[in-house]
Amino acid sequence: MHLARFPRLSLGHFPTPLEPLHNLTRLLGGPQLWIKRDDSTGLATGGNKTRKLEFLLAQALAEKADTVITQGATQSNHVRQTIAGAARLGLKAHVFLEQRVSDYGEAYQRSGNVLLDRLLGGEIIAHLPNGADMQQAMEQHAAQLREQGHRPYVIPGGGSNPVGALGYVACAQELLWQSAQQRLRIDHVVHATGSSGTQAGLVAGLFASNSAIPVLGISVRAPKEKQQQNVWNLASQTLELLGVAQPLPREAVVANSDYVGDGYGIPAASTLEALTLLAQHEGILLDPVYSAKGFAGLIDLIRQGHFRQHENVVFIHTGGAAGLFGYQQPLESAFTHG
Ligand SMILES: *Cc1c(COP(=O)(O)O)cnc(C)c1O
Repeated sequence: MHLARFPRLSLGHFPTPLEPLHNLTRLLGGPQLWIKRDDSTGLATGGNKTRKLEFLLAQALAEKADTVITQGATQSNHVRQTIAGAARLGLKAHVFLEQRVSDYGEAYQRSGNVLLDRLLGGEIIAHLPNGADMQQAMEQHAAQLREQGHRPYVIPGGGSNPVGALGYVACAQELLWQSAQQRLRIDHVVHATGSSGTQAGLVAGLFASNSAIPVLGISVRAPKEKQQQNVWNLASQTLELLGVAQPLPREAVVANSDYVGDGYGIPAASTLEALTLLAQHEGILLDPVYSAKGFAGLIDLIRQGHFRQHENVVFIHTGGAAGLFGYQQPLESAFTHG
């Protein structure tokens, strides 16, 4: 595996820190908890999409694109980070938002990531209803731009294709390097999984390095079987892109969908507990759509005795705190009970 063969820009701050969560470890009575701060990747408040965009936007430049098109939910972190990356490169960013969540009022519609999308100069082409064919909307728009003589580059939702997943292959390498530097034997990696690129890249990177570190993806949307299939498909395509011939065993991809609650973008009680626990005991901001659902899964599995006391568990903080301001309404109503 030779990542430097692929075009890549430098858009973020790497390596991201790998730090102990002393207070949470004590509070939960072990295992030894660590956090990898991919919320601190840079690019307009950071998050996991920065790593993917280093490869995706490099390809856009290689293809001489003048406009980047992408899509996501109203409070998408991916959309915000893509617009920021485009701004840095002098590209136009045209985005489509999907109204996947509808009852969190004005702040959800306009604040948080949506406010940043506009501040960063993104053009919101349309805000489509839940279930709209987002890929088709992007392709139609790209065709129109091409007719007008422009050169659009379409990035799928979440930046999750084999090129984007290379960003998390790089993260797997970074993690192994830190593990050696810090003499930290990593027993488990846990993180929130959505459009699959993060888990696919991590699994591919750890598999290709023969590390045997298990990765657990806590799903924020899809049921377990579907999520595992999506991640396995993308991880296999990513390995193919990397020239790794060995097939990825099915068992290398593990997802858990028990913490989705009522659906994508709707915080469950366990989500709010994780959010406040990390805020009030570690001073770390999670987000209500992804990282707090991921951490809620980790907390519950710890309580169920899933990990041993001496094991080192690394939670990858994938970012998203900019979305907190869009969730003022459900968050404030949660605080009145706590
Ligand atoms: C997109 C996102 C994820 C999920 O990553 P995928 O690669 O889409 O699975 C997790 N956390 C945050 C904050 C995100 O924005």
